[in-house]
Amino acid sequence: MAKGYDINKKRQEELAGLGKTLTRRSGSRCELCDASGVPLYILEVPPSSVEPEAQWAIFVCSVCMEQIIDFKKMEAEHWRSLGEKIWSDVFPVKIMSHRILRKLACDHHWVSDILENAYLDDEEENTVSSFPL
Ligand SMILES: [Zn+2]
Repeated sequence: MAKGYDINKKRQEELAGLGKTLTRRSGSRCELCDASGVPLYILEVPPSSVEPEAQWAIFVCSVCMEQIIDFKKMEAEHWRSLGEKIWSDVFPVKIMSHRILRKLACDHHWVSDILENAYLDDEEENTVSSFPL
């Protein structure tokens, strides 16, 4: 048990090292809903690399983080911005946006409409579907 905690703590410290890169990339905004002036947290996007990398992490606000971690709290309206994010040049933002929208699509028609027009190449499609939310 102590060991697990150590690993987790080490991971947290390594992740914290991405803070500067993510701050620069995000312009200090939540990379999913664009909230600014709020605390931002690092969310790993699976499959995470052995060493934490910005390529597999995004900066998110507490609202986004909470809904991703506990799907029962998901409020579809909060995720309207993902209609643009699914075209993001930032790989993990694109991947995460697709995963969230796919999860919501069963219950919300406007989400299915967005996804119908979305495009992923083979590699992106594999990445999105191997770790569904
Ligand atoms: Zn957010």
